[in-house]
Amino acid sequence: MLLKQKINLFILLTAFLAASFAYLTSIWILDNFLANNFIEQKDASVNSIKRDIEVFDRILLLVEERWDRELSISLPAIARQLRESTNKTPAQVKQHLLQLKQTHNLSDIHLINEQLIVYQSTFDKEIGLDLKNVSEDYTRLLQNVLTNNTFSAHRVSPSTVTGDIKKYAYYSLEGSNFIVNADIDVKSRLESGDNNEVADYLFGDYVAKLSDKYQWITNVDLFLISGADQWSLFNQGKKIDVALARKLFKGEADYSEMENTLLIPVFMQSYDELGFKAFLQINFDDSLLYKTKFNLQISALIVALLIALFSVLILRFGARKALTERFYDLMEQIKEKQPHQNKYIVLEGNDELVQLSNAINEMMLSLDKEQDINKELVGISQQDGLTNLGNRRSFDEHLSLEWKQAKRLQNDMSIIMLDVDYFKDYNDFYGHVAGDECLVKIAECLSKQVSRPTDFVARYGGEEFICILPNTDASGALKISEDVRLGVESLAIMHEKSLAAPVVTVSAGCFTINGNYDIGETEIIKSVDHLLYQAKDRGRNCVVEQSFTTVRNVTEKS
Ligand code: GH3
Ligand code: MG
Ligand code: MG
Repeated sequence: MLLKQKINLFILLTAFLAASFAYLTSIWILDNFLANNFIEQKDASVNSIKRDIEVFDRILLLVEERWDRELSISLPAIARQLRESTNKTPAQVKQHLLQLKQTHNLSDIHLINEQLIVYQSTFDKEIGLDLKNVSEDYTRLLQNVLTNNTFSAHRVSPSTVTGDIKKYAYYSLEGSNFIVNADIDVKSRLESGDNNEVADYLFGDYVAKLSDKYQWITNVDLFLISGADQWSLFNQGKKIDVALARKLFKGEADYSEMENTLLIPVFMQSYDELGFKAFLQINFDDSLLYKTKFNLQISALIVALLIALFSVLILRFGARKALTERFYDLMEQIKEKQPHQNKYIVLEGNDELVQLSNAINEMMLSLDKEQDINKELVGISQQDGLTNLGNRRSFDEHLSLEWKQAKRLQNDMSIIMLDVDYFKDYNDFYGHVAGDECLVKIAECLSKQVSRPTDFVARYGGEEFICILPNTDASGALKISEDVRLGVESLAIMHEKSLAAPVVTVSAGCFTINGNYDIGETEIIKSVDHLLYQAKDRGRNCVVEQSFTTVRNVTEKS
């Protein structure tokens, strides 16, 4: 895997992790915040509604006090008037009751006799009050009113028969055998009287205002539940489910099981005495919470995706600027380097890549040095230390190359082998140092005479020299051999001990062969060496030549 691919993979992984982390964290935070917020909002609104109910209770109580006073006057008056007309027919009594109802602004008047049965009423059809269906509290209340001739008024409550919200009052005149039971229709009284604002507040737009204020609330109701009935105090004529009402009344209901409904017991003054229990019912809609939650999840997802995108962009940009680009710059520079050009890499900055390029430069430098040393060593290994001519090894290499070349081109190639005459004697007589100096001079002379660029001169052994003359025929090689021999002679280095001449001389073998001949280098050497011996044999200071196969003596000997 390329470095670039690794970096890209790393970037993608990092971006994915960053986005996941961002998503999960924001969901967690939003979830907690939202759930807490929702619970807090719910608690706050429920408490606020509970307080409203308390206020409602108190206001109603104040209004009721006035009605209690009014009824405490009107009911005894009605009772007295009815007693005076006891000998009237039932139809006349009914007529009278209707008249009294209107006079006293009542919604109904009933007469209840000692058997606690409705005797007369405004209803066309008389209704019997079956005491088995009413609570013991209620029965006790009526008996108390009848026997003690007291005035008693209920709190505003729904009619156990119709659910109408009414204020009931009871009175029994001393000496009479019936109870006057009259009631005020609460809603119509409130709406027509001074308290229509209270009516509005209590029975009008209260619920609408609440559901406006708390979006999750869809409805609010207040139920008065007795052993016998379960009517709504806010919504006249509305009942709660009987089974649920029974449970609530007995305190057995499990509120938590109810979906989208809260049922909360609330305290309302003096309803307990009448055997009522008040329950606040709040209906709500959780879908808003889920909708908000969903929207927030989408937002979190978008945020996470943006984070991923920006991470990728930033990391890629950073990685490219800090690493990839520089790395490729370095690589390109290394690739572009040609031998003999400026080998050293120039990378701006001061990061690890610059350190790397410096290390490479240092390596190049030491390689260069090593190469120089190697060149020098190669030079040394190819050179003769005393004369600076090529040595035996370089001669072998040159011969091999030149012979191959001659074979390929079918050229002539000449080899001249030279040996200083009586050099042992020279050394013995003049000393070794002088001998060396003599060899150097001969070498210089040789270099001068054998001077074509392709020619090659080497010191073959102690006082033996050898020349390769590529593409040189027999006559040319012979001429050079003679020139060299004469050149050494004309150096006029005194050699008292030489039997060949009074000066230092050389003998030479000169061998010319064409590339057509199928012989090896060793045979060439042998041949030229043999010629040299022949020259020695012939008295030294002479050249013996052989070309191809012909051997002839070229130096005239006297
Ligand atoms: P010939 O004429 O038959 O060649 O006789 P020669 O004495 O030259 O031959 P020989 O092979 O007997 O002796 C060669 C001598 O060359 C031996 C040695 O003293 C001398 N010699 C060889 N190499 C060197 C060298 O590097 N420096 C010096 N000063 N003398 C050398
Ligand atoms: Mg020799
Ligand atoms: Mg010699």
